[in-house]
Amino acid sequence: NLRGLSKHRAMLLRRRSYHHPCADTLNALVGAPAAPARPTPGELSGWTIGLKSNIASTLLRTTCGSQALQTYTSPGDSTAWRLLQQAGAVLAGATNMDEFGMGSHTRDSMHGRTANPWDAERSAGGSSGGGAAAVARGLCRVAVGSDTGGSVRLPAAWCGVVGFKPSYGRVSRAGLVAYGSSLDTVGLLARTTADVRQAFAVLAHPDARDMTCMTAHTRHRISHLCHTTRQDRPNPTGALPLAHVRVGVPAECWVHELSDACTAAWRQACHVLQALGCSVERVSLGHLQSALPAYYTVALAEAASNMARFDGVRYGEPSGMGVRAGRAALLGAEVQRRVLLGTYVMGVEARRRFLGPAQRIRRLVQRDMDGVFALPNAMRPGGGPGGRGVDVLLMPTAVGAAPLVSEETAEEGRCRAAGYVTDVMTVPANLAGIPAVSVPFGSDRGLPLGMQLMAQYGDDHLLLDVAEHLE
Ligand code: GLN
Repeated sequence: NLRGLSKHRAMLLRRRSYHHPCADTLNALVGAPAAPARPTPGELSGWTIGLKSNIASTLLRTTCGSQALQTYTSPGDSTAWRLLQQAGAVLAGATNMDEFGMGSHTRDSMHGRTANPWDAERSAGGSSGGGAAAVARGLCRVAVGSDTGGSVRLPAAWCGVVGFKPSYGRVSRAGLVAYGSSLDTVGLLARTTADVRQAFAVLAHPDARDMTCMTAHTRHRISHLCHTTRQDRPNPTGALPLAHVRVGVPAECWVHELSDACTAAWRQACHVLQALGCSVERVSLGHLQSALPAYYTVALAEAASNMARFDGVRYGEPSGMGVRAGRAALLGAEVQRRVLLGTYVMGVEARRRFLGPAQRIRRLVQRDMDGVFALPNAMRPGGGPGGRGVDVLLMPTAVGAAPLVSEETAEEGRCRAAGYVTDVMTVPANLAGIPAVSVPFGSDRGLPLGMQLMAQYGDDHLLLDVAEHLE
């Protein structure tokens, strides 16, 4: 049909009820709040929230899916949870994740693996797979996740829900356990874009506890820029709802790994947007294919620095084994591997050979993005295409539907880097700091697929408008 609503998606939306957590056979929720919550009045009164295990709340253990923090409860709330609570939301529980957010399948967790709600043998995506599965199963209305390289969007795509990563700095990171600080964002998962939008409105505020959180002045400047950029576009009354929107399709995303079903869904999504009035054109982002190695170099360097605090002394139970042996015993193999690689790329010689070039690629990816969007980048004005540019980019969220976990694990056994390729479509948005959303669109043999939209830095609202129509 025209709106591209798959049978499965329609079925999902019809299941409106929210089940009690004991219906959780997926291992999506891994911690229940200490005391039953009583909803208070507010914009989100009574909304049930799943909080990823790396987002602090005094009501739950913040385990980050790691043995190193299995008994850790934060002394304070994250800003995200505090705002949701103030708006009347109640906590459903902690959601499962890959240890410290490092993974794409919610498999490497001290709590065990989260199953995909459509097929338990398949990956739920990661690292916020617990949140995506919980939303799909109706265990919570909204899940709060973190997205460093796609951790909200990938599980959203594979579990058939909406996953939104805001512009870097739109939502405070205070109380989010850092993975790659220059890439980390607090993101949202829900069944509908409307729910995401409502929760986002509650979270998108300045916060003195996070120095990278946008100030009120910057937010104001950005909305002014959005308004002036698009105000002269003709949009006659009675025109189609998205007649003022220009969509770009990046040629470089047409990779040979894309499944046939994904390619078909991508084409169909272009047609749907055209039918809604958008103009759709091909664009080129020349450095997109270098984004993945650049991401895994920058993210790991930052991860190695951030992980230094888990020395077995400051957090968790003392292992009694000394720092080195304690870290080896309490951190999983993937986290140890990443800390080692991250430490390596920060060495004097490796920095010149790997980290420096990766940071340059990051700038080039950012410049590519600035080169296609009509809206100027509020942080780096100048150099854009102006009126000739596009408003959103459209591409698949992943190259295919959720893979079988057994196949994925076997593949990674043969080649470690194979596992990282899953993130090829999602990491560019984190490198550039721009907002991106995955919406369920189409299906492949009964499994949901996700289409991804990206927009210029700060253009979160337009992005959600378009997503809502594509959904
Ligand atoms: N899969 C990516 C990684 O392992 C992204 C993770 C994330 O966004 N937290 O780094």
